[in-house]
Amino acid sequence: MPRPPKCRRVEFLPAVTYFKPAGIPLRVLEEVRLSVEETEAIRLKELEGLEQEQGAERMNISRPTFQRILASGRQKMADALLNGKAIRIEGGNFKMAWHQFRCLNGHEWNVPFEEIAGGPPELCPTCNSTSITPVEQIAYGWGRRGSGKPHRGKYGRRYYANE
Ligand SMILES: [Zn+2]
Repeated sequence: MPRPPKCRRVEFLPAVTYFKPAGIPLRVLEEVRLSVEETEAIRLKELEGLEQEQGAERMNISRPTFQRILASGRQKMADALLNGKAIRIEGGNFKMAWHQFRCLNGHEWNVPFEEIAGGPPELCPTCNSTSITPVEQIAYGWGRRGSGKPHRGKYGRRYYANE
């Protein structure tokens, strides 16, 4: 039986997902697309300063896979920076490390992915309300819809996984 592909665990979704160089007319503007896991690998390596081994662990992937994703993301950023291309962040093959929930009274909180395996939370941790709905994290092309068009957030707002 083939092993299921490992889930690429992502802890952070960037708030800004489109970067455009100044002074380039749209009709000639080229675009590179960074996947969400590429931005996560870059974040772990460059901003958190992790070694590749640690970054791979955080993303629940092998070190060679981490290295490949990181190299691909860096190459795209260099291409955009030096060749004056726009960057669009979307899609990929990943699972969020947290799921966000919201209660009837508007409180929002995050639950680690591993903790909700047995079911979603029953009470709001702030007001103990039992009226809880998951906040759908689909703004970036949730999960495996890598090649499709980006799905817009249901609530028309940006999402931070660890807000
Ligand atoms: Zn509440």
